[in-house]
Amino acid sequence: MKYDGIVIGGGPAGMFAAITAARRGKKVLLLERNDRLGKKLLITGKGRCNVTNDCDSNEILRNIPRNGRFLFSAMAACPPERVKRFFEDSGCALKTERGNRVFPVSDRSVSILDVLQKELRRSGVTVRIGRVTDILTKDGNVTGVAVGQEKIDSDWVLLATGGLSYPTTGSTGDGYELARRLGHTVTPAEGSLVPLEAEPDCAEMQGLSLRNVSVKLLNGKGKVLFTDFGELLFTHFGVSGPTVLSASAHLKGEGCRLLIDLKPALDEAKLNDRLLRDLQMYKNRSMENALTDLLPRSMIPVVLRRLHIDPGLQANSLNKQQRRALVELLKAFPVEISGKRPVAEAIITSGGIKVGEIDPKTMESKLVPGLYFAGEIIDCDAYTGGFNLQIAWATAYAAGMSV
Ligand SMILES: Cc1cc2nc3c(=O)[nH]c(=O)nc-3n(C[C@H](O)[C@H](O)[C@H](O)COP(=O)(O)OP(=O)(O)OC[C@H]3O[C@@H](n4cnc5c(N)ncnc54)[C@H](O)[C@@H]3O)c2cc1C
Repeated sequence: MKYDGIVIGGGPAGMFAAITAARRGKKVLLLERNDRLGKKLLITGKGRCNVTNDCDSNEILRNIPRNGRFLFSAMAACPPERVKRFFEDSGCALKTERGNRVFPVSDRSVSILDVLQKELRRSGVTVRIGRVTDILTKDGNVTGVAVGQEKIDSDWVLLATGGLSYPTTGSTGDGYELARRLGHTVTPAEGSLVPLEAEPDCAEMQGLSLRNVSVKLLNGKGKVLFTDFGELLFTHFGVSGPTVLSASAHLKGEGCRLLIDLKPALDEAKLNDRLLRDLQMYKNRSMENALTDLLPRSMIPVVLRRLHIDPGLQANSLNKQQRRALVELLKAFPVEISGKRPVAEAIITSGGIKVGEIDPKTMESKLVPGLYFAGEIIDCDAYTGGFNLQIAWATAYAAGMSV
């Protein structure tokens, strides 16, 4: 059986590219190594799938810190508006939440997968289970793929095998090796949107989730790399939660630290007044029991230890200097970062097929005619908010329209 083209990988990028090409009359085979499609898609957005971000192209590119400019044409051809229309026209109602994040009204990612599977069938894409082991070429041109011993012919091949994160979903980096064998450069892959390892104090507070805190990431020289507001979680290895995952995309080099403003709504003077009130109200309590209105329980011993304040000290014995130091610590609680958690635990892989070797308008390889790329396998990554799936849709659309 000869196909016009073969798409390797049944994730969002592979499915959307296959549909786009098939709608143009191409005879397409989609090969997926898992026994079902879209395994990672199902766990996106905590099972709700933040399918895109309803914003303009400038805003999208601002949210793609790595190789955003490479995506300029692809985003112009397939903006969020087109993505929304695709799902809505196929019967999946969408809604927009805080930060322009778009979700299915059902709050279930399976609604998004259902649309893709329905459109695969409707456009006549052949879907097969099989792990591609090689991309075949003759005289430098793509001629098909190998699935173990079996060879399947095609005029073009599209690699959409994803990155290296959450490998149990099927993204184990196969595509990097397949592309490398054909001469492509793969920039080293590491996690982005990934929890951070940090000093042991964090383990002492594990399970504690701080809401409405302001977070700053500083490099070894004290330069602010990133600021955010929202939720942060202490874990047995360090820190996680939305603000930390976003900060991880900016982590560079050694010696980084997070500064957490535990009371962003109060400036130092107001926080000082508030502290004075609490200390007055609980003047006969020990310090570890006088701060319970101001701080979560599990944080109090850590805060007092850092300030060398005896937890048993009576509240009315706290001197002015100690109170000042306490206010300063609450406004800038430092957490020393030792590194990222492994890429397997990351939401997204940073690194991948070098963008300089891909035509940004068509997603075709500049080295191997007939070879195309789409999705996370390309060396681009974005912040949270639906931007990573938007990269998958836009690159898939560009490739599907040009094969
Ligand atoms: C927990 C989590 C939550 C996320 N939430 C969001 C979110 O809400 N919004 C957002 O925008 N992004 C989110 N992301 C990121 C998003 O899931 C990815 O950007 C997206 O899945 C990338 O799509 P892809 O098709 O390029 O790759 P993948 O989804 O990784 O799909 C690649 C497919 O290729 C298959 N494959 C691999 N090798 C082979 C082979 N040799 N032969 C055949 N098939 C193969 C794999 O089995 C897999 O099915 C989240 C990621 C995670 C891990």
